[in-house]
Amino acid sequence: MNKIFFKSAKINEFRLWGLVFTLVGMGVMILGTAGIVFWGQAGKIIAAIFMVIGMISLLISVAVYFWAGMMSTSATMLQCPECGRPTKMLGKTDRCMYCKTILTLDPAQATAAPSEQHS
Ligand SMILES: [Zn+2]
Repeated sequence: MNKIFFKSAKINEFRLWGLVFTLVGMGVMILGTAGIVFWGQAGKIIAAIFMVIGMISLLISVAVYFWAGMMSTSATMLQCPECGRPTKMLGKTDRCMYCKTILTLDPAQATAAPSEQHS
């Protein structure tokens, strides 16, 4: 069975996770810095730990963005049969970036063939 775990297009999903890690990383770093204000000398150790966690999170976000970029170069460009807008899909099954319709390249999974409707 071909299941779809993502609720939106895979490329959009990767961008979302990249953004989440960026925000978490920045938030943790800000929290760590705030620790110095609240706990003084002891807060510096906490700040250092939080900084490292923040840095790791930011590195993950960069990796996710980089991975998404690599994936999108191998993505299939096609026109969405539902909204008519050009979208990218990853793998054999993905969702439209705009209307989130499930698109597939596998004829066995398809319920409609848009190329045949126009000809
Ligand atoms: Zn669409």
